[in-house]
Amino acid sequence: MAQKTEHITIFDTTLRDGEQSPGFSMNIEEKLAMALQLAKLNVDVIEAGFPQASVGDFEAVHAIARKVKGPVIAGLARAIAGDIDRCAEAVKPAKRRRIHTFIGTSPSHLRMMRKTPAEALKMAVEAVKRAAARVEDVEFSTMDASRTDRAFLYDILEAAIAAGARTVNIPDTVGYAIPQEFGQLIAHIRANVPNINKAVISVHCHDDLGMAVANSLSAIQNGARQIECAVNGIGERAGNASLEEVVMAIQTRRDFLKAKTQVRSREIHKTSRLLISITGVTVQPNKAIVGENAFAHESGIHQDGVLKERTTFEIMTPASIGLTKSRIVLGKHSGRHAFSKRLEELGYQIRGDALNAAFEKFKALADKKKEIFDEDLEAIVGEEMSAFDAKRVFEMVHWQSTSGANSIPTATVSLKKEAQVITDSAIGDGPVDATYKAIERITGVKGRLMSYNIRSVTLGKEAVGEVTIRVRIGGQEYTGKGSSTDVIEASAKALLAAINKNLGGGRAAAR
Ligand code: MN
Repeated sequence: MAQKTEHITIFDTTLRDGEQSPGFSMNIEEKLAMALQLAKLNVDVIEAGFPQASVGDFEAVHAIARKVKGPVIAGLARAIAGDIDRCAEAVKPAKRRRIHTFIGTSPSHLRMMRKTPAEALKMAVEAVKRAAARVEDVEFSTMDASRTDRAFLYDILEAAIAAGARTVNIPDTVGYAIPQEFGQLIAHIRANVPNINKAVISVHCHDDLGMAVANSLSAIQNGARQIECAVNGIGERAGNASLEEVVMAIQTRRDFLKAKTQVRSREIHKTSRLLISITGVTVQPNKAIVGENAFAHESGIHQDGVLKERTTFEIMTPASIGLTKSRIVLGKHSGRHAFSKRLEELGYQIRGDALNAAFEKFKALADKKKEIFDEDLEAIVGEEMSAFDAKRVFEMVHWQSTSGANSIPTATVSLKKEAQVITDSAIGDGPVDATYKAIERITGVKGRLMSYNIRSVTLGKEAVGEVTIRVRIGGQEYTGKGSSTDVIEASAKALLAAINKNLGGGRAAAR
């Protein structure tokens, strides 16, 4: 007898678990762009943030709930009345909304909260009831479930379902589980929680031992029907189960897993690129599905095999994740309409001043570089999105720098502030350092560089370099992004963007 193919709910936590990990913070505009793309990808649920964590988080969840159509919009809340009320308010504009409330259930979490199991159970029940009075769709999580006492785990799950939880999530919060063991945990929950068939079982696995995806698939085989995952596998520490690996494993091994998702896999590549472009953090070349080499066949034998018969070495096609060769999309004669249309196709919805500024940058780039690729456009728009909420206090007018063997790296920079142009020079350890020192002298803002990432946006001699930095100014961290065919200019723009955020009311990245 043929087994039924089960629908697996894909719950994306890129904007919550992913965004809260170091180096991945996004501003509201960037989160919105990501959420719109996740809707195109057709995930079932978008966990948009943790509204009680900060005003910025609340605003981002609220904006996503207002503007993103399709997926359920979820917010995270501790099992505390204030968190739940704030979360309910944040997700309110969404047509389909979910409150995801959680409590730590393992011995160490209980100790940390100074709660007995009975007290934690009572808090969970009250939280679920409070959430259920505000939204129809409530999810309850037992944080650190894989290290929780089994009898207590069954009790608290039963109580939460009775209180109105429609989804119960079993997180392997610290990435401790082994696939067979984690699968058994799910099987035991099904066997021991009397009302379990009234709720969907979800899993949320971390990759500390590199088994987040394997554990998630093992859970599916044992009855889990929702997987929590993140694009490019981002998330706390080693990250969450990677969305693209989960989806493509289910799609490719449907024969074995008897499961399917509603994700449009052809949007996977684009979604991964968008996240890289927004955060400046790349994935390793050998990363499954979305790494640069994932579909490259370098060795002679393999190339020969692929040419003769694709299926010899290829279990998935590049097209199935939407991977196409970089195409020349625009040139210097392309107009504003073609420019904004292509941006829309790439998933960016920018308008007004930001669109004008991006178009100016595009024209300047087209003067230097004949062929403009999608990746170049992503870099230009990424810069605009990153800076969108800050007033441009200082603007670059001119810069030059020199460096060489046995010479002293020197830079001269002119910046405009209102109608005034200020020029200064500095020496440094290298041309970027000298340029940074000159900018600091002019702006009077001294920052400490916490991270500096540079990547080549496209291949070739005249490629665009994109610099993403994090700078600590005063007690806060700011991200800055700059792109140019000259890496020193890209670096200067990135620092200027971060300083403008500090001076112009832009949002700090660190929480
Ligand atoms: Mn997590």
